[in-house]
Amino acid sequence: MTHMHVAGSIHADATSAAPVWLEKPTDANALVDGLWSGTAVRGAGGEMHLGGLPVTEIIEQAGSPVYVIDELDFRGRALTWAEAFEGWKVYYAGKSFLSGTIARWVQEEGLNLDVCSLGELTVALRAGFDAARIGLHGNNKSEELLRLALTAGVGRIIVDSADEIARLERLGAELSVRPDVLIRVTTGVEAHTHEYIATAHEDQKFGFSISGGQALVALVRCHGSAQVNLVGIHSHIGSQIFDTNGFEVATRRTLRLMSQFKEATGVALPELDLGGGFGIAYTTDDSPATAHDLARGLAEIIDHECRAFGLERPLLSIEPGRAISGPAGTALYTVGTIKDVELGGGQSRRYISVDGGMSDNIRPALYAAEYSAVIADRVSDAAPTLSRVVGLHCEGGDILVRDTFLPRDIRIGDVIAVPGAGAYSRSMASNYNHTPRPPVVAVRDGRVATIIRRETLDDLLALDAGLE
Ligand SMILES: *Cc1c(COP(=O)(O)O)cnc(C)c1O
Repeated sequence: MTHMHVAGSIHADATSAAPVWLEKPTDANALVDGLWSGTAVRGAGGEMHLGGLPVTEIIEQAGSPVYVIDELDFRGRALTWAEAFEGWKVYYAGKSFLSGTIARWVQEEGLNLDVCSLGELTVALRAGFDAARIGLHGNNKSEELLRLALTAGVGRIIVDSADEIARLERLGAELSVRPDVLIRVTTGVEAHTHEYIATAHEDQKFGFSISGGQALVALVRCHGSAQVNLVGIHSHIGSQIFDTNGFEVATRRTLRLMSQFKEATGVALPELDLGGGFGIAYTTDDSPATAHDLARGLAEIIDHECRAFGLERPLLSIEPGRAISGPAGTALYTVGTIKDVELGGGQSRRYISVDGGMSDNIRPALYAAEYSAVIADRVSDAAPTLSRVVGLHCEGGDILVRDTFLPRDIRIGDVIAVPGAGAYSRSMASNYNHTPRPPVVAVRDGRVATIIRRETLDDLLALDAGLE
């Protein structure tokens, strides 16, 4: 669904500036099902607990703002995806959030790992992640990155361009290795939440076009190469996908390509990767399918299309990132300033400024992503009031939660919790306005463990060659 309110469409009810999808809650303190990590509860006194710890205790130990990863929730989701997709290979997409600890959890839960940069690959290898279970992505992999991947024995490389094939062949010959490769194709399908569009034409930087014929050419070239071992095709259609609709056309186009390749060479490609992008609930407006429902739906689509093309079912893989890391993470902020702004027509909007912002979560500013929030240090039965949670940066678009209902008596010093903060928050964080990035901590059984320590002003100043 396209959120029209982003462009300014507001509720027909003239007394509310809330977007149509956002209902005024009867209880603004409620931790709505499906939004929060598994151990998030309100304790006896009303304070929110994560991993068995009151949020104020987490902040006392780790400071504010802070990203809190619920370890049991993260591990549980990883395992759920592995179990739902039994017989498939499941790659956790490290770009959603990766650190040494996360890489170890992913390995311990039996998943494979996707990386797409020199930094991510280095983190994974340093964490002791089995290189054979790593997939390497990227549309412009440097020679240094490819060299590291080849010498470390990365399990598969998802090839994105003709230049990369040439680079791999040269490095493979030099290093005497023959890596397994998948060819990344573009199917013309672009999925976004409930909607997807399917076109014949693709106008973007990733992969080889199926409709343009480059994909088949690349497959045939790799098939004939002494330096790379072609194992299959990769297709990734988008993000925040809630159901299997978008996969139908993409899978048909991909399997048709497999059958064309078979006609051309007599060889059936053994592997097909359907990519990631499985959605999560950031607000009450989102209703993602479960991993088990997706597994069933995708298997049906594959089997149906394989029959149609007379192909054996290939070895399948998927690459969920956000669906594992997102809901496991909660961002905690502290309220610093509260302002009521008159909108005219008797409407007003409350702006609640917290000690973080677009530097720790760029998604609202970048994609108009929606989030929700609650007061976490206490409960309140004051009237739910339409509020906007904003950051401390010098940008009007520095919004963390565009629209949410928070109790009217919110005050300076209150802790605000934002769910869905485990994915694409710390991993996309910046130092805008010379803001040090918040730490990431794991909570489990009443204990806090640092995953990534808080950046300090000294860390930032140390990079500045003009300062002593
Ligand atoms: C981003 C990406 C993913 C993961 O997307 P999520 O929305 O986090 O599941 C998987 N595969 C590829 C190729 C990607 O680019």
